[in-house]
Amino acid sequence: MKSAEQFDVIIVGAGIAGLYMLYRARELGLLARVIEMASDVGGTWYWNRYPGARCDTDTMEYSYSFDEQLQQEWEWPERYPSQPEILEYLQHVADRFNLRPGIAFNTRVDAANFDEASNHWRLRTGDGTELSARFLIMATGCLSEPNIPAIEGMDSFNGPIHHTARFPHEGLDFNGRRVGVIGTGSSGVQVIPVIAERAAQLTVFQRSPQWTIPARNRPVDPAAVAAVKADYPGFRAHVRTQPGGDSASTTVNDFSAMSVGAEERKRIFEERWQLGGSSFYNSFNDIKRNPESNDATADFVRSKIREIVKDPATAELLCPDYTLGCKRGVIDHGYFETFNRSNVLLVDISAAPIEAVTPDGLRTADADYALDIIVLATGFDAMTGALLKIDIRGRGGQTLREKWADGPVNYLGLQVPGFPNLFTITGPGSPSVLSNMVVSIEQHVDWITDCIRYIVERKHSSIEATEAAQEAWVAHVNAVANDSLAVSCNSWYLGANIPGKPRGFMPLVGFPPYVEKCEEVVAKGYEGFVLT
Ligand code: FAD
Ligand code: NAP
Repeated sequence: MKSAEQFDVIIVGAGIAGLYMLYRARELGLLARVIEMASDVGGTWYWNRYPGARCDTDTMEYSYSFDEQLQQEWEWPERYPSQPEILEYLQHVADRFNLRPGIAFNTRVDAANFDEASNHWRLRTGDGTELSARFLIMATGCLSEPNIPAIEGMDSFNGPIHHTARFPHEGLDFNGRRVGVIGTGSSGVQVIPVIAERAAQLTVFQRSPQWTIPARNRPVDPAAVAAVKADYPGFRAHVRTQPGGDSASTTVNDFSAMSVGAEERKRIFEERWQLGGSSFYNSFNDIKRNPESNDATADFVRSKIREIVKDPATAELLCPDYTLGCKRGVIDHGYFETFNRSNVLLVDISAAPIEAVTPDGLRTADADYALDIIVLATGFDAMTGALLKIDIRGRGGQTLREKWADGPVNYLGLQVPGFPNLFTITGPGSPSVLSNMVVSIEQHVDWITDCIRYIVERKHSSIEATEAAQEAWVAHVNAVANDSLAVSCNSWYLGANIPGKPRGFMPLVGFPPYVEKCEEVVAKGYEGFVLT
């Protein structure tokens, strides 16, 4: 058998996480290799090329902070940068720091086995190549494995069917076409208004209505940019003190929605609605905790939907009745207004589910819809999908699939007992998708880098989380989740969007206390880990 190519570190994925991890690993003087199945860098921003795709985190926050010159020089055009702009930024980073030579593109990792004799990971890629490394770092993304629903007859459709996260690079011509979009999550809410402007007819198949707030995107204010750049490190430090590692630009009104009268409450909601973006959720300090405040907020948003959407029956269908803020918050660019267009039809598939794709379109329980193009905005097998797609085997040949059969378990969202020297960046059990992900990614990469340096300097051969630490951590993550309203509806945070996926709240609420815990673990000599 051909001997495997050897590295100190193998990183799987060349998104925001993989790129930064490579940069840090090289700084340590380690021989590192990134394996990426796409043909270029970018991850999320490489794959999600659907029209309307953009960030919903403020531009000055959703970027790397590790290089002062980079953050000083890069110019963001808008408050919420578009997919091409973010991709261009990540390509620039890859070139600026000469990262590309360390990346194997068009290469998928299929299997990873821990060899206990040598304390090394052996990887197999799609073309059968073998690689080996002491440390294996999964930067495979929380939202990278598309959820393609198993609808009968998909192969029989006469036109193209594309998932939003696998959109053709050359784009799709919607002009004069009859288009169906399935799904009204963040991706659906972004793609629907843009397709509506181009298509002859757009039919939106909605299973659950969406809580969404106007984004009010706009060109960046040069004075505000200059103020941030005058002290970018200070700005970043402030962002890291926020519960979600973001929203530095708008502070929380630090009182309950119930502590003011109805008129004042409405005035504050209106002020934040006009400001736009997720700052709306900070109108009061208890919207996501206190059911009464949540109801008042929900009533306000429903009143806005009824005000915007002219057809009362359509407006009612668009009004959610589940807890606001329970699914991932969405901000939009003219979403509800789109349903006033004469070429847009909303179909409620919660009442009459989709039965099949036919050669000419889609059939629900009560009607047939003629379509030329189908867009699946059906989301992701989030947080665990990309990891479990790889056949990962740890100590004693135990598979990660077995270990996570009842849901993901680990310590700090960083390591799984039985899988030494393997780290997950923004793994389940860490703030990850409940935070500004660039901030969480940088925190994880920095922690992993320090950990590897510690191991190398002290000549340890491996690091492995203990079962006891895992047990306590999982209990903590569950306790924090159960204390919020986030567990009160079906969401991908709970795995509820994937048939058969074990139900359990996967991310951890609260970025600053998590960082404190990570630092405390290090201060106590990597408490909860065994260093061999
Ligand atoms: P990814 O960008 O997902 O990169 C993972 C990479 O791993 C991919 O390139 C994938 O091809 C590769 N990979 C996976 N498995 C394998 C394998 N087996 N072999 C080889 N390669 C593999 N977050 C925010 O904080 N703010 C936002 O506004 C925001 N907007 C988003 C918009 C969209 C449309 C989506 C889908 C997500 C958004 N997110 C947002 C979350 C976003 O995923 C993160 O912000 C961030 O881009 C994740 O970076 P990453 O490097 O961790 O993962
Ligand atoms: P999503 O939030 O999971 O939404 C998927 C949509 O498809 C939901 O409306 C869902 O309905 C529907 N759906 C799923 N399976 C279906 C089926 N079998 N039949 C019919 N309908 C089905 O996915 P997403 O919109 O891609 O967003 C995922 C995450 O990516 C976001 O929450 C966010 O973190 C990130 N994202 C961010 C942005 C941004 O603005 N920055 C943009 C896109 C994505 P139910 O609700 O009933 O399950």
